[in-house]
Amino acid sequence: MNIVRSILSLIFLSAPLLFAEDKPGTTRIAKWKDNKACAFILMFDDSSSTHVKHVFPELQKRNLTGTFYINPGSGHYGANRQFWEKTLPGAGFELGNHTMTHKGGDSKAEVEKEITDCNEVVHHLTPNAPWPRLVTFAKPGGLKKGKWPLTAEEQAALLAENHLIQRPSFSGRGAQVAFKTGDQMLAHVDKAVKNHSMECIIFHGVEGDWISTPLSEFIILLDGLTERDEQVWVTHHMAAYKYSKARDNAKVKILTSSPNQITLEVNSNLDPELYDQKLTLVTQVPATWKTVGVQQAGETSEFPVHKGTVLYEARPGNALITLSGK
Ligand SMILES: [Zn+2]
Repeated sequence: MNIVRSILSLIFLSAPLLFAEDKPGTTRIAKWKDNKACAFILMFDDSSSTHVKHVFPELQKRNLTGTFYINPGSGHYGANRQFWEKTLPGAGFELGNHTMTHKGGDSKAEVEKEITDCNEVVHHLTPNAPWPRLVTFAKPGGLKKGKWPLTAEEQAALLAENHLIQRPSFSGRGAQVAFKTGDQMLAHVDKAVKNHSMECIIFHGVEGDWISTPLSEFIILLDGLTERDEQVWVTHHMAAYKYSKARDNAKVKILTSSPNQITLEVNSNLDPELYDQKLTLVTQVPATWKTVGVQQAGETSEFPVHKGTVLYEARPGNALITLSGK
């Protein structure tokens, strides 16, 4: 009798937990876009000519993307001005601020001008994108002594004023410094998959220029990324950064749940103008639903139901989201 009672109480105690998990409307924010395991960014520094010659065509061929940290006042940039100003900005790649000349300055004001002038160029090259917006920033390496006369606090204030976000450090991420071969670079990708993290590799030259990665090794990395497409979100630094901030900040609130319709909101206290990256949501739906119409801010899109859930994108911080089942 005691055993029966124990079993019964176990069933009753665990029942609410089971029902809570299965409840239609239960929504989680995916760790990364499209529920992928990690975010990965290919970064290219210094407006090198081999980016024009090798990197850009190889990425385009595979429908991959990357972030280019430009120095618009440098000779390398000037040598391929047409590419940096006409070809690249419209082709779906990210432009990062690597300062105007890569040479730093003798005073705080000169360094500030190096940074703000480069930001102006980034803005000018992408006239249709919102401004101000978050721009990824990489401090130039190998500066001569005294050429970056800023304290850590002054630099942080300057970056914040210009909506600049510091990228992850070069240490442990430099091609030909931390990794020599394509397989070593792919091991870095697989670590990000395992850790569900955001990671990157920072390149200089590819098959030429300086700190050069052989093209054959670069291609091993790109083909490996293509093979891992279902797990790896190859994206821009600001897309991944905004996603992670919004994901960690947003809260999903279920407003109503009926057999035909679920309404919810995604609230976030981040500035929606700056944090405009959509989040991927996964919502539990009633067992009878086969497809779901997701309506947000006047737009409706249709999504299939997979294992009792629907996966879709939503902008945090504003409109009501309505899911209608069919
Ligand atoms: Zn550099």
